[in-house]
Amino acid sequence: MVQEKKSLLKVNNLQKYFTTPQGIVKAVDDVSFAVAPGETLGLVGESGSGKTTAAFTIIGAYQPTDGSIYFQNKQISGKKRSRELKRNIQIVFQDPGSSLNPRQSVRQILTMPLKLHNVVPAAEIGNKIQELLELVELPRDFIHKHPLELGEGEKQSVAIARALSVNPSLIVLDEPTSALDVSMQAKIIKLLGNLQQEFNVAYIFITHDLSLMRNVASRVAIMYLGRICEIARAADFFQQPLHPYTRMLISSVPVVSEEEEALKPPHYTSQGEIPSPVNMPTGCGFHPRCPEKLDICDRQIPESLAIDNNRQVFCHLYRKDQEQKIADSTLRQE
Ligand code: SF4
Repeated sequence: MVQEKKSLLKVNNLQKYFTTPQGIVKAVDDVSFAVAPGETLGLVGESGSGKTTAAFTIIGAYQPTDGSIYFQNKQISGKKRSRELKRNIQIVFQDPGSSLNPRQSVRQILTMPLKLHNVVPAAEIGNKIQELLELVELPRDFIHKHPLELGEGEKQSVAIARALSVNPSLIVLDEPTSALDVSMQAKIIKLLGNLQQEFNVAYIFITHDLSLMRNVASRVAIMYLGRICEIARAADFFQQPLHPYTRMLISSVPVVSEEEEALKPPHYTSQGEIPSPVNMPTGCGFHPRCPEKLDICDRQIPESLAIDNNRQVFCHLYRKDQEQKIADSTLRQE
């Protein structure tokens, strides 16, 4: 079993299924991970991988079908969320344009959570808003502006200020930079890093863009068709991806230097497209596309295998390796 640092959030065997006219969609299936205080866990996957559904279940927008969620050692799944818990877990959405009310000024947008959660006395709200604008590197006079007068990056900075205003321990960042141009993306990533250092807030950073994770996440969890394929420290993950699906993703990440190119796994192509979530493959969900498929792969779902204290992979290839190692060491002892 992978050793875990003291966890802020623990997700155990989480399932979230949806019933649709076409059948049951297993959007999240048997997903487990933990997030430590002040760390960034990157939750990466293509569209339909279940990463956003997992995050929305964590923030309480969906009730889990099964499994449990613990926050600060208390079970929070299947229970009505207290105001304190809602304060402590915040979310920043992908599109700041639709998450900010266009009719409200920045002052009104930031006043609401400060009042709702009694963060400061009413007389100090104006000063607190100025402080928040400074923290997210926006000019003080933006307090009077409305979202329509702001650029995309500025809107996202206001959304980050709103999340941060109530001193949360965890912020779920749902593709927070995907609507931004490259220079604004870099600015927001740097800002998030600075804020994390200052406030020790943990992030779950959801993205389909693996290249972003290199500079953002301390650990990365890769999802495919509702399940986790691999969890590893970001450095290990980029140096030596283990799961065939993660190798495929990493081999297609663009790099900017020869050193990075040398570290990439050899070009790795998979076959076919992602299967429909209402018609899931049997066994390992990746088997119809996997170039290393074994006989067992379409019959049995691979279980978690701890490669070391910080790494888990869900793939029969490694179980086979592990069994071989055990068999070899037994032979040596005989
Ligand atoms: Fe490929 Fe089998 Fe591993 Fe799935 S379990 S990724 S099909 S080798």
